[in-house]
Amino acid sequence: MIILVVNAGSSSLKYQLIDMKDESVLAKGNCDRIGIDGHISHKTSDGRKFEADINFSTHTEAFMELVKALTTGDAKVIDSMDEISAVGHRIVQGADVFDKSVLVTDEVIDKIDELRELAPVHNHAHALALRACKSVIPASVPQVVVFDTAFHQTMPPKAFMFGLPYEDYEKYHVRKYGFHGTSHRFVSKALAEAMGKDVKDLKIVSCHLGNGSSITAVDGGKSVDTSMGFTPLDGVVMGTRTGSVDPSAVTFVADKHGFTPSEMSEYMNKKSGFLGVSGVGSDNRDVQAAALEGNERAILVSDMLTYEIQKYIGSYAAAMNGIDAILFTGGIGENSWEVREAACENMDYFGIKIDKALNKSIRGKLQKISTPDSKIEVWIVPTNEELLIARDTLELISK
Ligand code: ADP
Repeated sequence: MIILVVNAGSSSLKYQLIDMKDESVLAKGNCDRIGIDGHISHKTSDGRKFEADINFSTHTEAFMELVKALTTGDAKVIDSMDEISAVGHRIVQGADVFDKSVLVTDEVIDKIDELRELAPVHNHAHALALRACKSVIPASVPQVVVFDTAFHQTMPPKAFMFGLPYEDYEKYHVRKYGFHGTSHRFVSKALAEAMGKDVKDLKIVSCHLGNGSSITAVDGGKSVDTSMGFTPLDGVVMGTRTGSVDPSAVTFVADKHGFTPSEMSEYMNKKSGFLGVSGVGSDNRDVQAAALEGNERAILVSDMLTYEIQKYIGSYAAAMNGIDAILFTGGIGENSWEVREAACENMDYFGIKIDKALNKSIRGKLQKISTPDSKIEVWIVPTNEELLIARDTLELISK
């Protein structure tokens, strides 16, 4: 059974073709620069490649190229789209409308599009891609949507409400939604399996650290709190995003710069974080390299990140009345031994001890890095959101 996983952005369509027989990736690629000019890069698992500048002005045109890349030419992996059993789509914002993955209908697409006010960059693009997919792929092929927010729908109101007037929650749905849910769900389950335990018996702090980062308290397999909020801007300092800021600083800075709300949003989402504080760049590798050379602002922003991670660990220990395991995932969490080491430093109160030499030697691999006498187990758990989307898709179409 072959499943196509699609992750659509406003100007890109990333995809993976997964054979569910052994959960292997047959091919993956990206249709980029939709509506600008257009570029497709496509790669098969056996190393064949197809890359071309092709003008696609819409998601539908990009989808047609994706189909061509999969079914024709030297890098084709299937003869026709009839070989595909289903398509699974990643959707950023499901708000409090979707608490789990669902089969796509016209109503579901309309609802996702309606939620665009809550995720302006993403949801409309998802709706475009869903409609494009429907118009290009045979109607007999079911589609499934998997939401970044769904896993966090188990948060209690005391965790998701803001101290704004209640009417704004009722009228505008302003609340914490949380993101990276697909990743947190995947890695917390994978960690429980690795520990030989039932996820229902574990209190886990899941640290997804990448360009965007979020930390989630997973109690008994359910998200009970998470660091991202109404949008993926809240929480720890990120590549170009601020993380948490005193709201008064936001209105003050907007006033000083004469920014409109959307300009201020751009400032906080694109110009801040590692980039804004260090002045070096948004990529953790560049920041770490500059920090090693003694760049003070690069050291500062690295310290800010690890200090914030530690504070989340502390607050989630309080939220869950204990922690059994902490996991690191995402580009930084899986690869940066420096960030993991610093985040676990001076955490003796919690009884957190990691094997520093082991931690330093591991990259992108499932591995326990805490010492046998550490009270809390610490693990690296590689994430795989596409695989979880494919698994959800398979489960829903099998029902
Ligand atoms: P996204 O949130 O866009 O999915 P990723 O999870 O891919 O991002 O994470 C990207 C981040 O991971 C970047 O900051 C990058 O520097 C960092 N990263 C990737 N590889 C390494 C590495 N080997 N060492 C340190 N950081 C790394």
